[in-house]
Amino acid sequence: MARLIILGSAAIVPSMEHDNTHMILQGEESNILIDCGSNPIARMRKIGVNYDDLTDMILTHFHPDHVVGVPILLNNMWLLGQQAGRQRGALRVYGIHHCLNRVEELMLAMGWDEWPDFFPVAFHKILERDNQLLLENNDFRITSWPVKHYVPTIGMRIENKRTGYITAYSCDTAPTESLYELGRNADMYIHEAAASKPDIGHTTAAEAGEIARKAGARKLVLIHYEVFGPDGPVDYSNLPTEAAATFKGPVELAEDFMVFEV
Ligand SMILES: [Zn+2]
Repeated sequence: MARLIILGSAAIVPSMEHDNTHMILQGEESNILIDCGSNPIARMRKIGVNYDDLTDMILTHFHPDHVVGVPILLNNMWLLGQQAGRQRGALRVYGIHHCLNRVEELMLAMGWDEWPDFFPVAFHKILERDNQLLLENNDFRITSWPVKHYVPTIGMRIENKRTGYITAYSCDTAPTESLYELGRNADMYIHEAAASKPDIGHTTAAEAGEIARKAGARKLVLIHYEVFGPDGPVDYSNLPTEAAATFKGPVELAEDFMVFEV
């Protein structure tokens, strides 16, 4: 069975217990990192994913809490590979042009073109269109839809090719039409809940419940919620109750290191 492991569940400001939202999708032949807001190398190791086990990386949008860990992760993968005397195969990186073009600029700013014997990185840039094929291998077929955030952003629908299990992930977004299609009849809908009141770029827990209900999802998992504010820790314990007011299926709050069979 494939697994989705939550490596971080927080919105833009992390805490000791909640890193920025990112996750690993693990199939029989692939380890796919979804977003990279901080250096995930220690967390990957904790869940048994070694630095050279990573096959693919999906980046959903160019906001610091989703991409700023890329240079240090790639740097660590390169250094550890060099120390081990191993040259890995290409790391494939997927996303829309807006995001990946900037990630390339970020890597150039870090001088990666001067890091000797750097392993190959293959950028797969896709169009911002509904139902675009983002990544397909023997484990998964992942399609993407533009969602409604402050910068161009994609949400995704992950199909397990062996079992047909569907996982939808909203990424960062306000309520918008594409969220129904990408989450249509999903077995699990992972939806952000960063807003405390209706917002133009984020969703409240109650709105996430409504979206999951209208999409016909079986189960809702809330992620990318606020854990740390100007006055210190934020109480997020009521979010599942707020979502349960609009969604009748099971609701869970994603926590770091939670494992979902997908
Ligand atoms: Zn964002």
